[in-house]
Amino acid sequence: MADTTAISWTKRTWNPWRGCTKVSSGCDHCYMFTAQHKRQQQTGNFELWNPEIVQRTKTWGDPLRWQRLAEKAGIIETVFTCSWSDWFHNKADDWRAEAWELVRRCPNLHFQILTKRAERMARHLPPDWGDGYPNVWLGVSVESQKYKWRLDYLRKCPARVRFVSAEPLLEDLELTPDQVAGIHQIIVGGESGPGYRPMDHAWARKILALCRQQGIAFFFKQSAAPRTEMGTRLDDREYQEYPLDLVAEAKALQTNLC
Ligand code: SF4
Repeated sequence: MADTTAISWTKRTWNPWRGCTKVSSGCDHCYMFTAQHKRQQQTGNFELWNPEIVQRTKTWGDPLRWQRLAEKAGIIETVFTCSWSDWFHNKADDWRAEAWELVRRCPNLHFQILTKRAERMARHLPPDWGDGYPNVWLGVSVESQKYKWRLDYLRKCPARVRFVSAEPLLEDLELTPDQVAGIHQIIVGGESGPGYRPMDHAWARKILALCRQQGIAFFFKQSAAPRTEMGTRLDDREYQEYPLDLVAEAKALQTNLC
């Protein structure tokens, strides 16, 4: 769980807890399960590295350290939160208030909170959430049409930035303008790793066209491939668009602090 990451749409990852339980077809080849099974074999410790036991990690000091560095440098960094779990997992309910408090104390970090448990999101936002913390992006994963209901929950949550991860994209989502109203960014990616399932670039092109029509930032992460970050171009072009200008955000933050 290194804090910098190969995930192209973020700068860092933070896992205040790790471990999860599978909820949908997008979880079938979950990277965290593979990695923890490997560690079980390497260490012989089957409880510590049991992917289905949600447990606190020792990384709780990381955000404050990154915050100090980012503030000193006058920048804003993105932090993908819970790449080895799910922020809204019910087994983390007792720890989340403490995690929200850390998030609040780190204005130079923008936390990208992505969930497959969209139905729990609204009920587990902090009491002072208001229209959304300025440094939190809320997102849901939608891998197939069956899980488009997650978008309904996301649209109803107030948030500074709402994003969708269509990864691993397993079929044509057939998204409509109404379904993506209020969404600021869509990330598309094929599955990677052994046994990866195919992704037709035509499905990605349709999402790109919808994003262009609706003014949504489009990020193409990769094609379906045996390894991560393979085939990062769609029709010979890279698409790495963000919903916010982080340089402008950093300048505004500095001005507000002066
Ligand atoms: S929700 Fe995410 S972390 Fe949890 S099992 Fe599914 S893919 Fe893995």
